[in-house]
Amino acid sequence: MNKNHNNEPVISIGLILPEDNQKNVSITLFGEKFGLLIDDVKQVEFKNDFNVGVCVNKLSLNDIHCNEIIIKNNDRELANYIKVDPVIAGRGFHWQKSIDIKVLGDLVIKIIDQRLFVINKIFLEDYLMCVATSEMGAKCPQSLLEAQTIVARSWILAAKEKKHQNLKLDACNDDCCQRYQGISNVVLSSVQAAQNTRGKVLIHGDTICDARYSKNCGGISEKGNNVWDINFQPYLDSIIDSENTDTIDLSKEENFKEWLLNQQKSFCGPEYINEAYLRQYLGNVDEKGEYYRWEISYTNSELVKIIYAKSGKQFSKIIMIHPIERGASGRILTMKIMGKDGNGNDTSLNINSEYEIRRILHKKFLYSSAFIIETNSKHKNEYDFTLKGAGWGHGAGLCQIGALGMSLAGKTTEEIVFHYYKKTKLKDIYE
Ligand SMILES: [Zn+2]
Ligand SMILES: [Zn+2]
Repeated sequence: MNKNHNNEPVISIGLILPEDNQKNVSITLFGEKFGLLIDDVKQVEFKNDFNVGVCVNKLSLNDIHCNEIIIKNNDRELANYIKVDPVIAGRGFHWQKSIDIKVLGDLVIKIIDQRLFVINKIFLEDYLMCVATSEMGAKCPQSLLEAQTIVARSWILAAKEKKHQNLKLDACNDDCCQRYQGISNVVLSSVQAAQNTRGKVLIHGDTICDARYSKNCGGISEKGNNVWDINFQPYLDSIIDSENTDTIDLSKEENFKEWLLNQQKSFCGPEYINEAYLRQYLGNVDEKGEYYRWEISYTNSELVKIIYAKSGKQFSKIIMIHPIERGASGRILTMKIMGKDGNGNDTSLNINSEYEIRRILHKKFLYSSAFIIETNSKHKNEYDFTLKGAGWGHGAGLCQIGALGMSLAGKTTEEIVFHYYKKTKLKDIYE
């Protein structure tokens, strides 16, 4: 990360990644304060809208072929922005769609293996102002937006995982890292959330917390170490998402089942937020759904098809889905699927992470791995399956809908962040 004179970092966010296999992008410049460099040559005259395509191993812009295009934005005002169209949102998840994105900061367009690579270089605080209302809706109360902004700032500065290090990015634009959809969703309250918390991060000891978060924990959060192969220290521990924080061990099958099927009073549940009103508080790409408790049913043949498409494992029929290990929140960490192959012999598939469980057991992506499996027998030896689950996402760290519930119940920004991240403090790291 580069530092400017106020120590506010400039970060690099990937908007279009080589893996998107995108061949064209349309760019529009709004405002007057732009400069254009084509292969490092400053252009005296240029239009404020143009298309960039791929022509074998070069970028093409009208009749010009080049390796790199840089658009310099010499202003930080909201009136001076660049529109990039299209960009993928929800890459690989069940809510994937194409959107356009309007960004502050500079834009760098490159080509890698005949595919477009578009990067937004932006001041951290300008980025954060967009993240709060990309992750959650603009109508969210102030303490939720401030908590979300502190968490997003801490995460990007700590980011232990560095998923896109090979591309020299701090993050991508999407749910894989944290959701960033430019200035379209920016409102006065998200600008204020960034200003009120400017430079503030969560720390544990002397280090900035890798403050993970997910949409809905389902009533209890998961230990970070159970989701990623990373040692997160105590701040990503499992917590009960309610006023009553008595610990409860949901790694045991019976405990989890009883807990799941009985009403709990959770910050992320209907006691605090009626799901009928939730839509107005969510990000504009989030799907309407029931996040706290959900249910999905498969016929045997549907599940056989999905598992084959997602894992390459061919069953002729499935006999049993067996959770082997559950985490503190009941999320399944390892499971075994047993069935028959094409010759009628026993066969099985082991799945060894909550992410893979969610990826393989849904045609797009399952809400969470915190579920029980009900087996229904219509005919002898012919089973259908119903998954009954809790929460949306990996469930470690801050629960966004729970934080919203706390915020609507009048809790402060500090109360929210310290509820989800135990043994942490807040620190200002730049002015
Ligand atoms: Zn990413
Ligand atoms: Zn929660």
